[in-house]
Amino acid sequence: MSAVQLIANYACQLKCPHCVAEPSRAALPDYRMDLETVERFILASKGIVYNFVTIAGGEPLLWGHLAEAVGMLKAAKITTSLRVFTNGLRADALTPPIVEALDVVRISDHGQPLDACRAAVPPEKLQIVPRKKHTPLPTEIPTLARLPVGCFCRSYGVTEGRVFPCPLLPPNCRKLGIPIRPEFSTEISEGYMERIAERMGGPGHWGKFVLCAACVANVEIRQKNTPKNRSEPCESL
Ligand code: SF4
Ligand code: SF4
Repeated sequence: MSAVQLIANYACQLKCPHCVAEPSRAALPDYRMDLETVERFILASKGIVYNFVTIAGGEPLLWGHLAEAVGMLKAAKITTSLRVFTNGLRADALTPPIVEALDVVRISDHGQPLDACRAAVPPEKLQIVPRKKHTPLPTEIPTLARLPVGCFCRSYGVTEGRVFPCPLLPPNCRKLGIPIRPEFSTEISEGYMERIAERMGGPGHWGKFVLCAACVANVEIRQKNTPKNRSEPCESL
C-alpha cells in the first residue's frame, strides 16, 4: 500500500488542544503549499498509483489553491482515492467541481456545525470522525514504547517544499525539540521513496524513528492516551 499526505497549510480557524499541526503552525504560521510543489509531486509520482492521496493541514479549505490542486491531482490519475481532511467550517469552499473530483471528504467533528458540509457532500463521500478519537501530542518520549512501534499513519508527507518519510515528522520534531535534519527529508522528484528508504535504513521505515515512540500515530500511545470522552472544548467554538 502507498499513501501520501499533502500538507496544504498549517493555518486553522480553531485551536484544538489535541492538534498535531500546532507545533508547525507555531513555527511557520504563514506556510502554504504552492502549485509548483503540487506539480512537482505529480511528476515525482510517475508510474505510481497511490492507494490514498490526502490533502490535509492545518485546514485545507482555507488554502487558496484547493480547486486547482484537486483538479491537477484528479487529472493526473495517480490515486484511487483522493481525499481531503478538514474541519468543515468553510463548507462554501467545497464547490460542486471539487466535491465531484474528490473520493472522500473526512471531517474531524470538534462540535462545530456540520449542516453545511452535509448539504455540500453526498453521504457516500462524507466521513465524520468524532473528536474523542483524536489523541493528544505527547510532550516527551514515553518509556512504554519500544521501537519499532505500530504506526497508524504509514504515509509519506509532502510539506515545506520537501517530502518526508511521514507527515508527522516535522511537528513531532518541533514538539520534542529534535532538529529537523536535512537527511530526514528528500527533494520532491522521481525516486523519492527509494531515497527515503536508503536514508531510513530500508523500506518499511514507519515506526522505526526515535520520535515514533512519542508520536500520536503510535498505536500503543493511541490506545493509552485517547480519552473515552474528551471534554475540553476547542477554542473559538
Ligand atoms: S481543526 Fe484540526 S487543524 Fe484545526 S486546530 Fe483543530 S485539530 Fe488542528
Ligand atoms: S509513528 Fe513514526 S513513522 Fe509513524 S507517523 Fe509517527 S513519527 Fe511518523
